[in-house]
Amino acid sequence: MKKGTLLILTGASSVGKGDIRDLLMEDKELHLFYSISMTTRPQRENEVDGKDYYFVDYEAFAQAVRNKELLEFAEFDGYYYGTPRKQVDFLLNSGKNVLIEVEAQGVGQIKLKHPDAVSVFVMPESIEDLEKQIYLRYNDDASANRRISKARVEMELASLFVHQVKNTDAKQAVSQIKTFVKEAMEKE
Ligand code: 5GP
Repeated sequence: MKKGTLLILTGASSVGKGDIRDLLMEDKELHLFYSISMTTRPQRENEVDGKDYYFVDYEAFAQAVRNKELLEFAEFDGYYYGTPRKQVDFLLNSGKNVLIEVEAQGVGQIKLKHPDAVSVFVMPESIEDLEKQIYLRYNDDASANRRISKARVEMELASLFVHQVKNTDAKQAVSQIKTFVKEAMEKE
């Protein structure tokens, strides 16, 4: 059976990856399956365990790392995030297209195992605009500052990505991403 295509979406915190992700998931042509990450971050009020993330404690996360159950993992703002390997492999081997959303450190680890994956870096309109979004989203200044520092570093990594899209308009960004994925689907 023809394998599915893997799409990795990355970019700084608060750059609007969530909106892009939601639109991509609605796309009937791409028919993407979302890879649900595991995290030690506390669950937010609007989040559902097993849909947005698998919320686990540190010990369960460490166990998953020891058992080599994660395709990649990284630390972000004091918490761990990782991509369970089994679900991604199962979906790809069943010919399904898979979407993984990760911070930039995770991308290299995934590409080592899936060199054909399409990785897309989402850029903000400007760094000033991104800072504004981060401060709006995080009431806690310390957390916002940490996310801004990391965003600055991540944006330095953007040039290493073949595919970059500017999130001026989510629909437009999605249409560009769709082109990249369709190209990869035709090649495979
Ligand atoms: P948040 O706490 O805002 O949901 O996510 C923080 C950051 O972690 C975001 O940039 C998000 O893309 C990233 N992230 C979510 N899941 C994973 C994962 O499984 N692995 C890695 N490396 N990053 C992740």
